[in-house]
Amino acid sequence: MNIDKNVEDDGVIFMSIKDEEQNKDSAKEGAGDAKSCGKSDEDLLILAIESSCDESAAAVVKNGREVLSNIISSQIALHTVYGGVVPEIASRKHVEKMNGCIRAALSEAKVTLDDIDAVAVTYGPGLVGALLVGVSEAKAIAFATGKPLIGVHHIEGHISANFIENKDLEPPFVCLVVSGGHSHLVVVKDYGVYEIIGQTRDDAAGEAFDKVARAIGLGYPGGPKIDKAAKEGNPDAFSFPQAKIGDAEYDFSFSGLKSSVLNIINQAKMQGQELSQVDVAASFQKAVVEVLVGHAIKACKEYGYDKLAIASGVASNSGLRELMEKECAANNIKFYRPSPVLCTDNAAMIGAAAYYEYKKGVRFGLDMNAVPNLPLGDRERRFHAGK
Ligand code: ADP
Ligand code: MG
Repeated sequence: MNIDKNVEDDGVIFMSIKDEEQNKDSAKEGAGDAKSCGKSDEDLLILAIESSCDESAAAVVKNGREVLSNIISSQIALHTVYGGVVPEIASRKHVEKMNGCIRAALSEAKVTLDDIDAVAVTYGPGLVGALLVGVSEAKAIAFATGKPLIGVHHIEGHISANFIENKDLEPPFVCLVVSGGHSHLVVVKDYGVYEIIGQTRDDAAGEAFDKVARAIGLGYPGGPKIDKAAKEGNPDAFSFPQAKIGDAEYDFSFSGLKSSVLNIINQAKMQGQELSQVDVAASFQKAVVEVLVGHAIKACKEYGYDKLAIASGVASNSGLRELMEKECAANNIKFYRPSPVLCTDNAAMIGAAAYYEYKKGVRFGLDMNAVPNLPLGDRERRFHAGK
């Protein structure tokens, strides 16, 4: 994946993401060659929109797996000064940036709205004000063009990011979804059909990374900072607890681990000792990663699946990717993971998920609303949404 980055005057980072094949194609065709995306009558083009948190994103996806354009406008720098995402700022920036993202996505894909077959958008879960910007934009485009409208669950989008770079991946498979708001172990039984077999009892994995990073003075966003610090530290310097939940072997719990890190910090303070930031980071990361990998591998073996995917923000963690790769190889499981840039919030993954929804006949009405706490795999609500 190649990323063209441009920092705008307000600090927002505008990114255009392309894979190697796309770069070769655009060099061949030359820029601004309208409608040269090579669409045939059977091809299905989806314009996808994502705005559930602090990234405004738009993409054009062909037949669910071929990304013609993938634009992300990231506000992360604006929220860093507050130590986390400020919902009101996020919504306002989405309003400012979304039209530009959509225009860029269409132009990079060398298509116009006339060429698009359907408009897809994340309608939950996420920050309600942020989601509403994308939902309103998608509804307006669907209404103005008369094209079908498809609502996508954000986490189903993250899982579908795996389809983009792995053309051979098909359900069923096990997927570990680990982000700032979710830690789910899921069996993807078919396209759009999910069975949740494990989830967190308290903090999400990414939330634990963020809280521990703050406690040891690394700041926000915590995940990437701990990942980087962990590379310098000793993962065996501290032995942090790895919670086992008796009645639900695939569930996770990270709050005890977080408290244990806080205790060590307080103890060191009281004894006037200097604590090694990188050793705490490495030992904490090891504890989280071992639990995540252990549960995922066990699920594959017990449920009888030989394909395992990872998805969402924490899936970029290098320690997780390394150990998962090693354990999958040792257990004859094929391991799938998106490139790190496709683990962050983006619209290409929404277009990938929407393609399979479209094929199933899912269509939303203009009464679609943002659903901040939308449960994973809630097909009932999806089909009723258009009525
Ligand atoms: P959500 O959509 O639930 O807010 P995202 O999918 O956007 O979450 O992922 C953001 C989360 O991923 C944050 O908690 C962040 O700290 C974490 N994260 C991002 N990169 C890494 C990494 N390299 N290692 C660990 N955690 C990471
Ligand atoms: Mg996300």
